[in-house]
Amino acid sequence: MAPGRVIVFTGPSGVGKGTLLRSLLPNHPEIHLSISATTRQPRPGEVDGQHYYFKDRETFQSLIDAGEFLEWAEFAGNLYGTPRQPVVERVDAGDLVILEIELEGARQVRQTFPEAFQIFVMPPSLGILESRIRGRGQDSDEAIARRLARAEVEVAAADEFDLQITNGRLPQALEELESALFATI
Ligand code: ADP
Ligand code: 5GP
Repeated sequence: MAPGRVIVFTGPSGVGKGTLLRSLLPNHPEIHLSISATTRQPRPGEVDGQHYYFKDRETFQSLIDAGEFLEWAEFAGNLYGTPRQPVVERVDAGDLVILEIELEGARQVRQTFPEAFQIFVMPPSLGILESRIRGRGQDSDEAIARRLARAEVEVAAADEFDLQITNGRLPQALEELESALFATI
């Protein structure tokens, strides 16, 4: 992989994207994780500026209007977006930047960064996905239902991505992710 690139990391909510990145990134300081903005309420333990920039809807809308987002999308009733400037600065400086975003955002990034390496994380099954979301214990029943409905649409689009990784056993998924990312850098 050439330096100064964007990596898009997509997959249904609850598939384990955050878990994979939390295992991967401490060993790879050369990869920078983009911090998104969202109108979603913080979950217990989430810190503003670390997990997300938490914004009210009006502020988020003004950031959209000002063109501050590289991409943004509505997901399960909340808005999510990638602040443009930090990503552009990192890429211009020759760094790798990873965007952990949903499907619509990934499609938008293909327009701006067509050379981005796009990875889709698959659940072993929708039943296992549901038990992971429930096991996380941080979403309401309504939020879980919306996430699962969206998951079916997202999984159906997995072929659009450069690489699909099934997160069954975590160590194996991590190994696949690492070897795919670092085979060429
Ligand atoms: P995402 O970031 O994609 O929304 P999370 O990383 O929050 O998903 O994972 C959702 C839940 O699934 C968490 O409780 C996490 O511990 C669990 N999980 C993640 N990967 C695996 C795995 N390979 N096997 C079993 N449980 C997993
Ligand atoms: P969660 O509420 O579980 O943190 O995230 C819900 C979904 O929004 C996940 O699929 C996550 O990848 C996605 N997401 C997080 N940040 C962004 C972003 O900046 N843009 C887009 N398009 N999706 C995002």
